[in-house]
Amino acid sequence: MNVYYVPSEKRRSIRIEITYAGDVKVSYPQGIDIKKVDDFVREKSKWISEKVAQVSASRNEFADIISFQKTLLLGKKVNIVFTPGLKRAELQSGVLFLPQKNKENVKEATKKFVLNFAKEVLPQCTAYFAEKVGKCPVKISVSHLKSKWGSCNANREIKLNAKTAMLPRELMEYIVIHELCHLFELNHSQIFWKKVIQFCPNADLMRKRLKNYSFLINLFD
Ligand SMILES: [Zn+2]
Repeated sequence: MNVYYVPSEKRRSIRIEITYAGDVKVSYPQGIDIKKVDDFVREKSKWISEKVAQVSASRNEFADIISFQKTLLLGKKVNIVFTPGLKRAELQSGVLFLPQKNKENVKEATKKFVLNFAKEVLPQCTAYFAEKVGKCPVKISVSHLKSKWGSCNANREIKLNAKTAMLPRELMEYIVIHELCHLFELNHSQIFWKKVIQFCPNADLMRKRLKNYSFLINLFD
């Protein structure tokens, strides 16, 4: 386990983060007494080892996804069979047959498949919940975002990360509901969360479960 100390001009408090590689990143306000930072890390040592164990368990659970032997579609693992000469991708009884085109590697082919899959699934899911929520976005776009699951702007445009369609259905639905509720409130105020909970009563649990899947965000980078 590597521990990195990162001074930051912007930070006002010490923050410990466990990276997907299982490293410990400690960011702290620049100029603070380094002994204070050490003490803080020592105080949190139990929490740190628990988190590192959690991250390593999740890395083992999804090792086949990260190595592209399998991929996730709506939370279900499917085997990838990468086939040169195949005309188009086919999903048959839990096996994804992916064509190899133009010397693409399996990662690029999977990325493309996930985008097409997401473009089918996510707009449908959004339309379904838009009706329930009673607000409709002006535009929905689906792409491989690199840092978030989704966003909503003041022009009522919702952007969704294609990787959202890799998540278990209930987590995907939570993200869609979350973004739709930004059509009421463009912030994360209490009023906003009340709205979210109205349509997704387990929102808190979903947010926690979502953390296990944060590795997906950079899967194709
Ligand atoms: Zn939000």
